[in-house]
Amino acid sequence: MKRISNYILVCLVGITLLSFSGCQNGPGSDAPYKALIITGQNNHSCEESTPILKQILDNSELFATYIAKSPASGEDMSSFTPVFSDYDVIVLDYTGDPWPDETNQAFLDYVSGGGGVVVYHAADNAFPEWLEFNKIIGLGGWGNRNETNGPYVRWKDGEIVKDLTPGRAGSHGQQHAFRVAIREENHPITKGLPLEWLHSQDELYSELRGPAENLTVLATAFADTSKGGSGEHEPALMTIKYGQGRVFHTTLGHVMGTGPHPAVECVGFIFTLQRGAEWAASGEVTLEVPNAFPGFNSLSAWDKYRPYTFDELLDCLESYKPGDSRVCLQDLSVLIRNTRDNEAEWPGMESGLIKFLKGKATSDAKNFVCREVAIWGSEALIPVLEKLIEDDDTKEMARFAIERINEEYTN
Ligand code: ZN
Repeated sequence: MKRISNYILVCLVGITLLSFSGCQNGPGSDAPYKALIITGQNNHSCEESTPILKQILDNSELFATYIAKSPASGEDMSSFTPVFSDYDVIVLDYTGDPWPDETNQAFLDYVSGGGGVVVYHAADNAFPEWLEFNKIIGLGGWGNRNETNGPYVRWKDGEIVKDLTPGRAGSHGQQHAFRVAIREENHPITKGLPLEWLHSQDELYSELRGPAENLTVLATAFADTSKGGSGEHEPALMTIKYGQGRVFHTTLGHVMGTGPHPAVECVGFIFTLQRGAEWAASGEVTLEVPNAFPGFNSLSAWDKYRPYTFDELLDCLESYKPGDSRVCLQDLSVLIRNTRDNEAEWPGMESGLIKFLKGKATSDAKNFVCREVAIWGSEALIPVLEKLIEDDDTKEMARFAIERINEEYTN
């Protein structure tokens, strides 16, 4: 896994340089939707998070994602006039200096006219004094917000309630992994997700306040006081209706420094962002829940912001020994199962497995592949399996696989 992490780092640096040298130039893509990430100022590391968000959206194959980077804090903002109406969804990764008036007005016109918006993590810290922006994000934090900005919104006794108790807006305890609980299981963004799933280490945004008009809380997270939290079930995923516009707000995804960034590697974060962006752009969701989605007790991460390819999984498996993480094994198993009936792709995958069994992988890795091909393999595997019988460490699984394959093909 170390090798993969280093590779990611190199890629990210490369992508960061590419993105920020030619900010207004997007990818050549036939994806159905265009997304624009607004970035450039943030109290987090947006030079890290913006390229990650772009990868996540592009990897969905639904978006061609472009980046609009503002001038730096304190510089003249008058030239910052993104053409929102050219895009299906605007992704906010920005908190900083006010935009020019014409940009504010263009943003409001865009959203009220039916545009899509994704509010990502600290973007809900932005513009505490701009009322219409706060209606769009629904809830916000910090920036001296308090009860004058609106209620807290919480899950209490089986329903969402607004709480007008005076007090600050915006807090979080120490970072930790926590469960996200779905509160609207029939919304297109959450449909089919586990009702509770474990999110990788992140900040658990709490005590947000705002107008909370036309707000639907899709999911909450319990801010445990033992972790410095509020002791409340706090909104984690939300939608807001503003005019004809659709807004998806995720409080998840803390990114600070050079990484690793577990919060945004979480498959739960990645997938809900992709679905939330699709819904904001179109009002519909077509993306199907990945096998790798986290469970009640199981974390799941994609450190490339997409599933590993077959070759990457074999690479990862090659040095496998008992006690190592089994994530690559599980993912490979699912990929093999899902490809077995694909007549165009299966022969290539089977050749890859044969090559792997002939190669220098550990015997534990080869035994794992033998067990898989015992279920899914064809007669093409027999010669390499016969070779593995000559090795004491692999002979049992190889013999088992041969017997199973022969049974399959003689019955
Ligand atoms: Zn944060």
